[in-house]
Amino acid sequence: VHGPASALILFSDTGGGHRAAAKALDGALRRLEPDVRVTWCDPLIGQGKAIARRVGSLYPTIIKRSPRTWGAIFHASNNPASFVAIKAALRAQLRPVLERQIAVADPDVVISVHPLLNHVTASLLSRGRRSRALVTVVTDLVDVHRGWACRRADLVIVATEAARAAALRRRLRPDRVLNLGLPVDLAFRPAEAGEKQALRRRLGLDEERPTALLVGGGEGTGGLLTQAQVLAADTNPWQVIVICGRNQALRRRLLSCSFETPTLVLGFVDDMPELMRASDLVVGKGGPGAVAEAIASGLPIVITSFLPGQERGNVRYVREAGAGRYAPRPRRLLTAVTDLLGGDGSVQRDMAARARALSRPQATLQIAAACLRIARAYRADAQASR
Ligand code: UDP
Repeated sequence: VHGPASALILFSDTGGGHRAAAKALDGALRRLEPDVRVTWCDPLIGQGKAIARRVGSLYPTIIKRSPRTWGAIFHASNNPASFVAIKAALRAQLRPVLERQIAVADPDVVISVHPLLNHVTASLLSRGRRSRALVTVVTDLVDVHRGWACRRADLVIVATEAARAAALRRRLRPDRVLNLGLPVDLAFRPAEAGEKQALRRRLGLDEERPTALLVGGGEGTGGLLTQAQVLAADTNPWQVIVICGRNQALRRRLLSCSFETPTLVLGFVDDMPELMRASDLVVGKGGPGAVAEAIASGLPIVITSFLPGQERGNVRYVREAGAGRYAPRPRRLLTAVTDLLGGDGSVQRDMAARARALSRPQATLQIAAACLRIARAYRADAQASR
């Protein structure tokens, strides 16, 4: 087969998780095949037509102001009749953008990491002049929205056995559903001996104090202000790092607070792997990104909230594995963090060991390898039929 393989990654900036998955896969594809051609497209928001862009951009507002509304939208959109209507509406919005992108990128494989992009892409690909593979990488851990379950995809990659079972219930072919794990940036890994202290020093933190990292997804949601106040207003034996993401108002509020417990307030960061390695515990909403990154870093996670819909199963997943706690109220949050960081460290060590046992450091590379394998097969086919 001549020439490097070509992949088009479809994602959308609804939340930070899909972009994070796209970035992780991009890195793994290049690691495995340095001259691979990778193109990205966000056909909803970034490159989307006006209506798709406007509707897609509502996501952060909805999840910030009313998670319950989001739950209603998620469940309403997850029934067969309404999903047919959604697909039709999406087709009109997405088709021109996707057609152009596919023509320009000429991919052997299209990799979708978003639940709303699969069906429209599959129908476009089935009508194209050359055949191209479609791989769907599910970025949710347990609950599989019907948008992920596209029967025409060559492969659907899931992160847990529960998700695989859910996908099979949606009548996907068993040989097309692979449980390989969640794509996590290759830079996430447990800290080596002495690394935690060195990273803390660089951040201007106390080297020895147990450290909690507060995150609320890319948008800084999930009640970070209250959580920071609960964990830092009074004197505690730990220190806190708060990642506000794109939530500027939160960042300003937090910077004007006076905390008794040492607290570092940061905006949108691009060194999350290092920040996790500097920490002993992740606290925040149970987004798949945060959960998977904490696990990959060998850290326990205290989940303070979850989006009704796709994030509900994450809580059970983490608790059943013993890799974290669920603490939706301030009092329970303080108890959980005191248990983990306030004592002799044995609870934290035990949970961290369980998080490490759950981690799948090969997942991202294996997903990328599966994508490349299928890309080569389609490329050989296309060249043979020329
Ligand atoms: N993230 C980041 N910088 C920030 C805040 C978040 O890189 O300042 C990343 C984080 O590492 C994760 C993603 O954004 O990969 C958030 O994904 P998650 O699923 O936790 O939440 P979402 O934003 O999708 O609701």
